Amino acid sequence: MILLISDLHLQEERPDITRAFLDLLAGRSRSAESLYILGDFFEAWIGDDAMTPYQTSICQALRELSDSGTNIFLMHGNRDFMLGKAFCKAAGCTLLQDPCLVILNDEPVLLMHGDSLCTRDEAYMRLRRYLRNPVSLWILRHLPLGARQRLARKLRSESRAQTRMKANDIIDVTPEEIPRIMQEYGVRTLVHGHTHRPAIHKLQVGSEAARRIVLGDWDSQGWALQVDEQGFHLAAFDL
Ligand code: MN
Repeated sequence: MILLISDLHLQEERPDITRAFLDLLAGRSRSAESLYILGDFFEAWIGDDAMTPYQTSICQALRELSDSGTNIFLMHGNRDFMLGKAFCKAAGCTLLQDPCLVILNDEPVLLMHGDSLCTRDEAYMRLRRYLRNPVSLWILRHLPLGARQRLARKLRSESRAQTRMKANDIIDVTPEEIPRIMQEYGVRTLVHGHTHRPAIHKLQVGSEAARRIVLGDWDSQGWALQVDEQGFHLAAFDL
């Protein structure tokens, strides 16, 4: 059995979400072969060298799961793209590129966070190109801690002003991007998060039937995609 989750936006201010995640780690995840976390795992991340006691406790909980034998795969989201090698090593996670082609149930499946599919949000796409290029990332990582904290506060207050946590305020994927990228990677199943619009969409890729599975964000409830012999099962649960 394989579990896929995304958009937990873990933060100290949401003990309900934190508790539900720790319960998932101690419970259902233990019998999973792999756990995939497809981005926006943390609400904010300013660097592996600046972990708070809260973030360290999450790191240790992941470590316990990985030590118990479950493979943990982590992909960056738009909020935690600074998560780095030191965190992954400490947590026992493998960092995935976005997009990432994997085999689930003998089927090639494309995994993405999803922000790169929202091409109509031109201002964000510009910011993403700027923030995610290796030179900017290197500079960001080497800024003094105080400067990174100020920058994170600024980005957070701007995003709070835009209330980007709500689905209606996040621009949805560009429909034409979906068959294009699925064709490019030769898949009939795409799994992503980010948009906070959990659903399983059927579509055509070329002449073939395909599906796009959108993971839900954790807010009033949690979401997980379970993949087992029965197939792909997306479900919500109470926090
Ligand atoms: Mn996101």
